[in-house]
Amino acid sequence: MDFDYPPEAEQVREKVQAFLAEHLPADWVGIGALSGADYVEFVTAWRQKLYENGWLGLTLPQEYGGAGLSEMAAVVVAEEFALAGVPTGGANDGFSIGMLGNTLMVLGTEEQKKYFIPRILSGEDVWCQGYSEPDSGSDLASVSTKAILDGDEWIINGQKIWTSAGHLANWIFILCRTDSDAPQHRGISFILCPMDQPGVEVRPIDMISGESEFNEVFFSDARAPRDHVVGGVNEGWRTAMSLLGFERGEAAATLPIHFRGELDRLLTYAQELGAATNPLIRQRLMQAYERVEVMRFMGYSQLTKFDKGHAPGADAALTKIFWSEHHRTVTELAMDIMGMSGLVADGRVPMSAFGTDEPGAPNSTASWQSVFLNARAGTIYAGTSEIQRNIAGEMILGLPKEPKAKQ
Ligand SMILES: Cc1cc2nc3c(=O)[nH]c(=O)nc-3n(C[C@H](O)[C@H](O)[C@H](O)COP(=O)(O)OP(=O)(O)OC[C@H]3O[C@@H](n4cnc5c(N)ncnc54)[C@H](O)[C@@H]3O)c2cc1C
Repeated sequence: MDFDYPPEAEQVREKVQAFLAEHLPADWVGIGALSGADYVEFVTAWRQKLYENGWLGLTLPQEYGGAGLSEMAAVVVAEEFALAGVPTGGANDGFSIGMLGNTLMVLGTEEQKKYFIPRILSGEDVWCQGYSEPDSGSDLASVSTKAILDGDEWIINGQKIWTSAGHLANWIFILCRTDSDAPQHRGISFILCPMDQPGVEVRPIDMISGESEFNEVFFSDARAPRDHVVGGVNEGWRTAMSLLGFERGEAAATLPIHFRGELDRLLTYAQELGAATNPLIRQRLMQAYERVEVMRFMGYSQLTKFDKGHAPGADAALTKIFWSEHHRTVTELAMDIMGMSGLVADGRVPMSAFGTDEPGAPNSTASWQSVFLNARAGTIYAGTSEIQRNIAGEMILGLPKEPKAKQ
């Protein structure tokens, strides 16, 4: 295992540190210290600053407006941003840049790259992901939203569900069935669809935490231009899978930083509330520390292989199982540390329903309660733990492939 980043990536570290020193206030403790309108204002202004200073679209080529960095240099930038407690972009940039931008670079046409990537980076186009349907989640290849060609346009009918941040987006990439007679995986197309049209309706879904960060999206004779297919008509399964493979390097480096920050906050809270003297709580805190350390080394191991051009595959499945299950366990511990007081939501509520509360956030019952509830979703989104175990079982242990009920 090699813990050093390549020298050219380290040079970028100096530049990003200088940028952060110049643009963050001296008393900055992390985005978690802000809430409400202050938070939204900061994230909006910060994204614009990143855009103007060339820190958005880190691995996208400069000719399309990206920073043109190597994968490892981009990991270093993400690491510095995580340590400083600032976001790497706006609310939907994981979809817009991380997923779609990177996918267009691999499978998009020249026209698609030239048209969409600058608009994604400027923030003119904001994307969300339309994969899941009421009857197609783990079994994604069974999607039934239909797209039929009518002259120069696709006419789209069907429903997507669990569309995160769909209410903030003006574009959606959707998996559509474009050949109902072909075998499941071969009749799907990946279509780029504008949302500002009468045929697209977004309805929010209320979550257990009281927030509504995801939505149902209905398509009723919605239209998308014929050439807005990425990766070829009926070849969308390959595009869909390619998109799911991005951003793993960045996550390997930044997840342990966020989880360590979260655990440090919990340690302080346990001491303040007097729970740190309880032998059983101490034991569980120590187990959480062990898991965060394991995650750190799993991340290094993944990055070492990643730098050598290794496709993450099963490593990513193991990382996903590990962090999402850790997060369920550590947030259950937080609820036990708070005891009865944890049943009352008091103080600042996290501004995002995903992952840990933001770096620099003060401890509060509202914060931990919200993160506890949202951590239940971590073992479901981006592929459930059962599906990740299937992947790891087949790819690492060489177990026989799961029998399929239908083709
Ligand atoms: C917070 C959140 C955000 C999300 N955001 C998005 C988004 O932005 N865009 C989007 O398209 N989707 C999104 N999703 C949807 C997510 O991808 C699906 O929920 C997930 O893939 C599981 O699908 P499902 O909910 O249909 O469950 P199902 O596939 O119906 O699974 C139900 C249960 O059966 C198990 N199971 C299913 N198949 C197998 C199998 N072969 N072997 C063993 N066990 C199996 C599952 O593990 C699960 O426990 C989001 C989900 C959540 C919770």
